[in-house]
Amino acid sequence: MTSLHNRHIDPLILKDLDGKNWHLQDYVNRGGYSALRRILEEKITPEQIIADLKASSLRGRGGAGFPTGLKWSFMPRQFPGQKYLVCNTDEGEPGTFKDRDIIRYNPHALIEGMAIGAYAMGITVGYNYIHGEIWAEYARFEEALEEARAAGFLGDKIMGSEFSFQLHAHHGYGAYICGEETALLESLEGKKGQPRFKPPFPASFGLYGKPTTINNTETFAAVPFVLNIGPEKYLAMGKPNNGGSKIFSISGDVELPGNYEVPLGTPFAKLLELAGGMRGGKKIKAVIPGGSSAPVIRGDIMMQTDLDYDSIAKAGSMLGSGAVIVMDETRCMVKALERLSYFYFEESCGQCTPCREGTGWMYRMVHRIEQGQGRPDDLDMLNSIADNIQGRTICALGDAAAMPVRAFIKNFREEFEYHVEHKHCLVPAYI
Ligand code: SF4
Repeated sequence: MTSLHNRHIDPLILKDLDGKNWHLQDYVNRGGYSALRRILEEKITPEQIIADLKASSLRGRGGAGFPTGLKWSFMPRQFPGQKYLVCNTDEGEPGTFKDRDIIRYNPHALIEGMAIGAYAMGITVGYNYIHGEIWAEYARFEEALEEARAAGFLGDKIMGSEFSFQLHAHHGYGAYICGEETALLESLEGKKGQPRFKPPFPASFGLYGKPTTINNTETFAAVPFVLNIGPEKYLAMGKPNNGGSKIFSISGDVELPGNYEVPLGTPFAKLLELAGGMRGGKKIKAVIPGGSSAPVIRGDIMMQTDLDYDSIAKAGSMLGSGAVIVMDETRCMVKALERLSYFYFEESCGQCTPCREGTGWMYRMVHRIEQGQGRPDDLDMLNSIADNIQGRTICALGDAAAMPVRAFIKNFREEFEYHVEHKHCLVPAYI
């Protein structure tokens, strides 16, 4: 389903890519590795790089939107032992498929971004943790690593400088929970991928108990472009506090699902137009704007909303990873929530009781409503279960499971009530 369409607005990471020009020489021809070369030749200080990232307002593209420069400044540069840099390419949330396209189409942007990060934080070893279900992309990244090593962009004394950085790929096993950063670290250490209690945070106690910085694939891949065009220009592409461009993975009931890179702050209506509009000319009903854990928004509200962290928060949801799931007027909201609830129930690691028991309980109740066996007090009970999960678990999967339940019931309550009362769907296509 993933596809790279050519109707981008001001793209950086996905510019001029055709699926064949991913090799090192192609990347160099597009100006690749020039940011790293300039840093090493001109001996640009780590402090200057971090200051530029802060000024650019580049925020983490994996979901949390945490400022990248600030995160990099947390790494204790003078720590005497080993430190690690980790890239999280374990995207597994329904609707999310941008990072695999980055390593498929532009893997050297990620490698250069990680090398710059390693230099800025005084790190010599890094890993890219790649989702276990994407084999071709994993193989592509290994090939790109080989190219970079052979050309002297990775390894000992990079480009003749005193800077050395060893970067490795690690293939996961496909568990959604390993996208949670501490579960990812456990998995990378060869253990069962289960989240750790925080604090301590990875910046002080990460991989093998050592200081570790973890960023998303798109975040690292954006770094060379930020430094090449300059932080002011990058910031100006988007909006204040929402700098630069962002890749949005649009799926569902649109004519051209795929990845689109547009400036942050682009109206959702414009993204929908780039994606060919609603499939078959149908009416928009609902949008999940930031991966399946982001609260669903009614279509009419989304059509008035811009795609940036602050505007989507104001509309009652989250930008998350930028996975935009569009549903048309024929979609049953009860059925949609049933499928999402099943996903979180299946993917709970089972470590804490509210998530382990609550996700199954919520799924069974939504399934019962969908099957026409709902009871009048089910909706209040579902809200109560979601309330008792949210904020009471070790990791954010509990919240991720609870938020869709609350949002679907809040924004489409009439459809759920109709299911309970009439024992079938309100939407004609499902009757
Ligand atoms: Fe595991 Fe769920 Fe607890 Fe996260 S919230 S640690 S997934 S049981």
